[in-house]
Amino acid sequence: MTQDLLNHTRIHSRPSDLRITDIRVAEIVGAPFTSALLKIYTNQGIVGFGEVRDGASATFALMLKSRLLGENPCDIDRLFRRIKQFGGHGRQGGGVSGIELALWDLAGKAYGVPVYQMLGGKFRDKVRIYCDTDADRPSGTEMGKRLKARMDMGFTFLKMDLGLMQIAHIPGTVVGPAGALEPFYHHAGGMRPKTLDERRHRNAIYDAQNVMHPFTGLHFSEKGLDLMEQYIAEVRAEIGPEIPLALDHLGHISLQDGIRLARRIEKYTPAWLEDVVPWQHTDAYRQLQQATTVPICTGEDIYLKEGFEPLLKAGISVIHPDLLTTGGIYETKKIGDMAQDHGVAMAIHMAESPIAAMACAHVAVATENFLALEYHSVDVPWWDDIQIGLPKPIVKDGFITVTDKPGLGIDDLNDELLMQHLQPGVTGIWQPTDRWDDEHSWDRTWS
Ligand SMILES: [Mg+2]
Repeated sequence: MTQDLLNHTRIHSRPSDLRITDIRVAEIVGAPFTSALLKIYTNQGIVGFGEVRDGASATFALMLKSRLLGENPCDIDRLFRRIKQFGGHGRQGGGVSGIELALWDLAGKAYGVPVYQMLGGKFRDKVRIYCDTDADRPSGTEMGKRLKARMDMGFTFLKMDLGLMQIAHIPGTVVGPAGALEPFYHHAGGMRPKTLDERRHRNAIYDAQNVMHPFTGLHFSEKGLDLMEQYIAEVRAEIGPEIPLALDHLGHISLQDGIRLARRIEKYTPAWLEDVVPWQHTDAYRQLQQATTVPICTGEDIYLKEGFEPLLKAGISVIHPDLLTTGGIYETKKIGDMAQDHGVAMAIHMAESPIAAMACAHVAVATENFLALEYHSVDVPWWDDIQIGLPKPIVKDGFITVTDKPGLGIDDLNDELLMQHLQPGVTGIWQPTDRWDDEHSWDRTWS
């Protein structure tokens, strides 16, 4: 009788006695950008997988270790509320969010339940993917052919860049103070300065790229607008009029130039126009959306649901949260529900490994308000092999199908492969992080 009862009871662990014992990272590059993959270890042998946002430092997650050791990872919301003060907008949200993913993965594994089920169950079986397609100064026709190749792979939703970088190399397309464009041709992130002068040079590039759109003095000329209109016309000629095509990376141009471009391209029916100005400029977003019929989108750099509310009230059309900035799985589900109440659609931004992709897919399955999920690794042949346990390819015919396996559905990571793609200066993976065990300060933000 007892054996019969046990055979019908799924006991994957003793969840009430589960404790966090360690947090370690694997810092890799090329999948598609930089990723800090996370493991949270427990006293019962089960391991949770998380990931710090692309381009962010693993430090954002490791500094939370001392605040989590000894805790039960199944208390997801309680632990999130303890650590959420240590997150911030953009990449600064990466540590809190990455940890939150791993807590859900652990809770799912402890109870033997997939994450989407813990969120309330399915609205859909398959998650629609849109593939962002980078290109270094191609013609519209060339970009159109690249996008058409994506469609031939089964993708039903597309995104491309349209802005300063498509035209700035052509004389007469950009109006601006001499030298104002120069910093945008460099990327400080890839530099590894040695001398003090090299460090100052990197910092100067960082500062220059931190000049927000209203303050660069950069504008599109009529010739620039003509060429961008021609560019999207050439793209539409290749991909046809029907498939959704989102647009990103206008560059640091003014609100007024964003409006001029938006009006020019209305007849090509973009799915949305993304991050025309910094998301903090709520009134600019209100003006922008009221000035054009192109759906206006922002949100990939907003931490916590409260940051979305003013934009929803300002009347933008699409939000685009990144799970690895918002605070993670549960916060993004809440953001999708809140946006739905305001009549605003949600797409999900993602440019990381299969860990982040599956976390996004579970939210997308379990949230009614969902358009499409970003995928940035069509051209990374080893991306699927980072993980062990999910059917490959993870993205098939333009969709991800979540499995019924516990947690995120990932059994393990492919350490041998990870070792082949370490970030510069990194010597190994899952190395001890003892130096973070006792990090502590009196961090309360009120008295
Ligand atoms: Mg973007």
